[in-house]
Amino acid sequence: MATSLAESAHLTCPRCGQSFTAEIWLLVDAAERPDLLEKARAGILHTITCPHCGYEGQADAPLLLSLTPPPGPLFHG
Ligand SMILES: [Zn+2]
Repeated sequence: MATSLAESAHLTCPRCGQSFTAEIWLLVDAAERPDLLEKARAGILHTITCPHCGYEGQADAPLLLSLTPPPGPLFHG
């Protein structure tokens, strides 16, 4: 079951004034989406690009990173 969670946000571009919908990641499971973890580390996970004029801005959203390692083998003895 997926734990990573994105929310569709309706945004208005501050440059061209047109509205568009963007996916904003709120919860990233590092084990599930290492690609998103890399983006978060690079500081570009919340960089939103306007599809109309190409303006880039930062979404004002909190991000929860889940760094729970995948379950390893269990040893009983
Ligand atoms: Zn724009």
